[in-house]
Amino acid sequence: MPNRYLIANWKMNIPPEGIVTYLDAVKDANAVIAPPFVYLKDVAARFANISAQNCADQKAGAFTGEVSADMLRDCGARFVIIGHSERRTIYGEDDGLIARKLEMVIDAGLTPILCIGENEQQRERGHAVEFCSDQLCAAAIPQLANANEIVVAYEPIWAIGTGRNATGAMVAEIVGAIRDALERFWPDGLASRTSILYGGSVTPDNVDDLIADGRIDGFLVGGASLDSKRFLALAEAMKRLPAQP
Ligand code: PEP
Repeated sequence: MPNRYLIANWKMNIPPEGIVTYLDAVKDANAVIAPPFVYLKDVAARFANISAQNCADQKAGAFTGEVSADMLRDCGARFVIIGHSERRTIYGEDDGLIARKLEMVIDAGLTPILCIGENEQQRERGHAVEFCSDQLCAAAIPQLANANEIVVAYEPIWAIGTGRNATGAMVAEIVGAIRDALERFWPDGLASRTSILYGGSVTPDNVDDLIADGRIDGFLVGGASLDSKRFLALAEAMKRLPAQP
């Protein structure tokens, strides 16, 4: 059965209320926090589940400015976000680079949070399912067989940071398609253990529509995760997810 996750992606921000105040407020939330690299150790000292937002596609060596998955593990990270759309669109990360990062994260014994999702044009043309399936196919590296767990985050690009979230019905359709693609392309048994999250302008106001169908395993949250009260409201909403079969 897939684990359920609520993940705070701070991006290149820290909560306006301050890291310590924020962490004190959310200390009992069953969540994962993804701060910028340089705050990983500080956050890990106060909160159990920590994720990095990115990692290098190499183990070590002459790669100025990069941080390896092993180093992230040494800083207390248990998870690494890979292939976030901001990495894909702003920094030009392609499926090949993301597949190498996936390999590094698995080799380091960490859990990858692999982000996928279509852009607006692809959705309008009716290609969202096909595009997401292709991204999962591109991530089907042999090392997946060694992974204890993988998290897939469906994050349609048009919904990230825009205030326009996908509807519960859209998410339900894509989650079904993602499970099918995982069965087809990924090693036996991994699909049923893979958590599928939704991300894209999730807030306490729209979360109930997104959980209603009961197929989603949680959320990757950007903007609304920067305020401890809003993030705690999302942690409460996670408790309203229907019981797993
Ligand atoms: C994200 O950064 O992954 C994200 C989903 O951001 P937001 O919630 O702000 O759309």
